[in-house]
Amino acid sequence: MQIELKNLVRTYETVHAVQDVSLSIPSNRIFGIIGLSGAGKSTLVRLVSLLEKPDSGEVFYDGQRVDDLPEKEIINRRRHIGMIFQNFNLFSSRTAGRNIAYPMEICRYPKEKIKARVAELLELVGLADRADAPISTLSGGQKQRIAIARALACEPDILFCDEATSALDPKTTQQILALIKDIQKKMNLTVVMITHQMEVVRDACDYVAVLSEGRVVEQGTVKDIFANPKTNVTREFMSHLTTNTQSVREDGVVIWSDVPAHYTLRFLNDRVETPVISDIIREFDVVFNISGAGIQKVGDTKMGTMVCDITGSPEAVNAALDAIRERGVTVEYEEVEK
Ligand code: ADP
Repeated sequence: MQIELKNLVRTYETVHAVQDVSLSIPSNRIFGIIGLSGAGKSTLVRLVSLLEKPDSGEVFYDGQRVDDLPEKEIINRRRHIGMIFQNFNLFSSRTAGRNIAYPMEICRYPKEKIKARVAELLELVGLADRADAPISTLSGGQKQRIAIARALACEPDILFCDEATSALDPKTTQQILALIKDIQKKMNLTVVMITHQMEVVRDACDYVAVLSEGRVVEQGTVKDIFANPKTNVTREFMSHLTTNTQSVREDGVVIWSDVPAHYTLRFLNDRVETPVISDIIREFDVVFNISGAGIQKVGDTKMGTMVCDITGSPEAVNAALDAIRERGVTVEYEEVEK
């Protein structure tokens, strides 16, 4: 389902919550909307998910205008929209399985179908054995899994995730994001992910729009925005990014290339700050391909580590390695499979 927003405006008395927002949200992708608290994200979601009408502007699903549909049709359309929230919004009086059954009961699915689908959805979210669990006995991550299963019950074509991982710890966040990515592919969903965390955008989204004071200040593919952020708002979000834990080795070295490299250079103390590599490149006919690096404090001194490949003629590489060692840098060589 492709979603098109044209010049959406929503004002609450004097607050311009959403000001002239136009966006094109592609089908079968995960689209992130990032903004600080008060930027207008929730208001925008209410407009896009047809919970609220804009003061002006238009919403299209697959080219069809939907914001001005009669109330009955809006209710029908909303049945194919799944939503999950930060605080899960589950019924504590119902078991996990009966929470998932709830929207199907509203849509008057036959009993047998509900039973079968609840089992299927529990399996999908990895909680096949928790059908009868009271909600209070579930962890945060499990609650969000049940909420996801419930959101998918009536086979939606759009899934809105409103700060869905904000109440979860980093590890659970990664698991829930992986689940959402998996489900998005399996069910061909268009996912709109509202967040204030750049990690969520980095780890889960294909596209992102940055919202500030009710306006889209930047949008594009996540790759492009990360490589070349154009506004201060975006740069500010990026400055709070924590390093992707999967790419940090135990010794603190951050590896950004999937291709393993042969050499590990260790720089101690003052050499961390001297331009050893630049000197070597100037002196010898070799090329450095750096795939990871890090800096650690060892007691009172600093140690820099660089993981790289050094290419050139065998003579040039050997001469360069000798010169590196002469400058007091430790060189380790490791056979790696490429
Ligand atoms: P976000 O989700 O990014 O935190 P919101 O969309 O909740 O932002 O809010 C944007 C602005 O609109 C805020 O200043 C908020 O106080 C105001 N606002 C949102 N909803 C209402 C409402 N129902 N009534 C009055 N003001 C609102």
